[in-house]
Amino acid sequence: MKFALVNNQRQEATPKTKGICPVCNTTVISKCGSKKAHHWAHETKQDCKNDRWETEGPWHRKWKNKFPIEWQEQITIVNNEKNVADIKTPQNLVIEFQHSSIAPDEQKSREKAYDNMIWVVDGTRLKYDFPRFRKKIIENSHLYFKLNKQNWKLFSIEFYDEVFPKSWITCSVPVIFDFLGEVEEKGADVFQKFLYCLLPTTKIRKNEWNNAFLFYMPRKDFLPFILNNEWENFYSNLLSNIEKKNIEEKEEWDRYYREEIEKFKRDCVEINNKIFVDKYGFKRKL
Ligand SMILES: [Zn+2]
Repeated sequence: MKFALVNNQRQEATPKTKGICPVCNTTVISKCGSKKAHHWAHETKQDCKNDRWETEGPWHRKWKNKFPIEWQEQITIVNNEKNVADIKTPQNLVIEFQHSSIAPDEQKSREKAYDNMIWVVDGTRLKYDFPRFRKKIIENSHLYFKLNKQNWKLFSIEFYDEVFPKSWITCSVPVIFDFLGEVEEKGADVFQKFLYCLLPTTKIRKNEWNNAFLFYMPRKDFLPFILNNEWENFYSNLLSNIEKKNIEEKEEWDRYYREEIEKFKRDCVEINNKIFVDKYGFKRKL
């Protein structure tokens, strides 16, 4: 954890200090070595929700530090239990950063705990996740529409289970993939210059194709977007625009099928019970 209570004030770890864990109220001690970022650790092992922060690595800390201190490690009480969110904005948007693998139960319980939540996931943890994404995203994605921000686009993704790490494809909240990992932004390739947000496949898909939706944004846009509190409006508009376009597409297909059927019936003669003969004398079924 980055913050503990010292004399009832939220404080970062400084050498040789003791504090209180704001979740379980037991003693924590500062860890200020040179290898890991300064943090607090429980003095004795605790079954505490704040425990996972103790092992947070540089990727996690780098993301968290981009946001105002008052938004970091915010405690929310859910079902009489204290939960710690990596980031909670004043509008109650929760952002959780996840570098390591996470147990499916823990993943679901966190999604359930918050009404309004985004995962940001390190897409470079496993060796093949990024190369696979880079290859498959080109083959499997179709532009659905452009978003009204420069260089933001929404794609429908077929066979999305081939594109993304398995553990993140059935989330009920948006998942943003960061494929930069520990690399400096200067060294980023063109794919890494964007963040990729997979919309919850459990909630929104493309008509009968069952494709998932993904939008991407230039990496540099994400922070101001959250700081300016643009997420909520953007997200609800996006969902309703997808819904609208889904309906339009479905109507278009239905119209097309109706016309094809009419054409078929015009060109063919029914000989008995749904068996038709076309103008070349071939038997056909409707
Ligand atoms: Zn604790």
